[in-house]
Amino acid sequence: DEDLAILDGAGDPGDLERGPRVLPVLAVVGRPNVGKSTLVNRIIGRREAVVEDKPGVTRDRVSYQAEWAGRQFTLVDTGGWETDVAGIDASVAKQAEIAIDLADAVLFVVDATVGPTATDEHVVKLLRRSKKPIVLCANKVDGPRAEADAATLWSLGLGEPHAVSALHGRGTGDLLDAAMAKLPTVSAHGVARPDGPRRVALVGRPNVGKSSLLNKVAGANRVVVDETAGTTRDPVDELIELRGKPWWFVDTAGIRRRVHQTQGADFYASLRTQAAIEKAEVAVVLVDASVPMTEQDTRVISQVVEAGRALVIAYNKWDLMDEDRRPYLEREIEKDLVQIQWAPRVNLSAKTGWHADRLVPALERALGSWDTRIPTGRLNAFLGELVAAHPHPLRGGKQPRILFATQPSTRPPRFVIFASGFLEAGYRRFIERRLREEFGFEGSPIEISVRVRE
Ligand code: GDP
Ligand code: GDP
Repeated sequence: DEDLAILDGAGDPGDLERGPRVLPVLAVVGRPNVGKSTLVNRIIGRREAVVEDKPGVTRDRVSYQAEWAGRQFTLVDTGGWETDVAGIDASVAKQAEIAIDLADAVLFVVDATVGPTATDEHVVKLLRRSKKPIVLCANKVDGPRAEADAATLWSLGLGEPHAVSALHGRGTGDLLDAAMAKLPTVSAHGVARPDGPRRVALVGRPNVGKSSLLNKVAGANRVVVDETAGTTRDPVDELIELRGKPWWFVDTAGIRRRVHQTQGADFYASLRTQAAIEKAEVAVVLVDASVPMTEQDTRVISQVVEAGRALVIAYNKWDLMDEDRRPYLEREIEKDLVQIQWAPRVNLSAKTGWHADRLVPALERALGSWDTRIPTGRLNAFLGELVAAHPHPLRGGKQPRILFATQPSTRPPRFVIFASGFLEAGYRRFIERRLREEFGFEGSPIEISVRVRE
């Protein structure tokens, strides 16, 4: 690749080559208080996941990018979910069920000082039925004396219990080695072939109409049953033919399995959302047009942008819209979406099917942008003119100059600008705005990083 050849010797091009991040997923499952979050913190080496001394603390973040022995994977933390009215056993079972659906391998954590409980046994049944690879973690083995506690967990029939103290870090290296041995290098969620069906996630907060839209789309179009050669099939995804082309709708199981009646539903929804976004190339964020936008809507949009996926916003329930309200609503929408004016917007009704046919063209535009590569020559010609007309403001008598720019990767487009000094955030935003004006990128986030060269 010509661009990368130019970057050779420019220092760590490694992080420039991140493709779409469909990493294998390792999910951490277990009863409350067994130490799942403590273990997750240990693995990601951060204090980011809050550890509370009491169960039932709901957190937003449920998945993290982690690395062990040079291998990258997505770690799903199911700690912090709430116990619902149906009782602890049902909650743990539901959590395990979701985690198993999403995972390529499961890290099952048991408190060795307590030993296997009836709830643990219940999860074991689910795990066995799933046939997914399982690594058994006997946690809270803080010292050699507790080793015997760990040994009692052989009785679960899941193979070797790995004695660990998540709190002190004891045994976590061996545990991760065992997990890496069982985790496939490529996620079953699959890496789409360039000519294979594209992967779409329908996301949005509960009740915006995801399952209605899915039913509309699947009902009116052919659901492709037989597998397209060369694609990996995940049973939670559906292949649907739209406008003559098959599309993967990812995690439709999560959409069809309605969880929002239960307590802790937000957590389950957020767990699913994050995973679905990561599996997809493009996400359709559904928003309920009949009510004001909420923080939860904005959060889902941010999740998509942060994951670097292509984005389409669908304003659903447009049939409920009062004619008189529309101009007002249009202004509201403009305001709400000021940060992501680049995302295509479709107003539709999942109920009546009105404008549902506009979804695919929007998806195609967004994916087209996501795949776009600007040739280096064209990029530099454009930036040269831009910088000549609008130089970086003088700071302390100095003026950083832009030396060279390149786009080393796509999906989404990532740019690297080499400059003679630090570029201010405002100037970087200005460049992003102008890049978009010039090259479009409708429906795709773009990333710009600056390398300072003496
Ligand atoms: P979760 O509900 O499964 O996510 O459990 P947490 O990670 O929140 O941990 C529950 C409690 O167990 C906290 O007070 C932790 O400090 C404690 N804990 C976690 N791991 C260990 C361990 O290896 N040894 C000991 N002694 N305590 C631990
Ligand atoms: P989900 O939780 O996002 O999957 O949302 P659902 O598809 O279950 O929809 C939640 C509720 O909104 C249901 O009562 C649907 O019938 C209703 N709904 C969904 N889409 C539309 C729409 O376009 N118009 C109207 N009027 N109602 C809708």
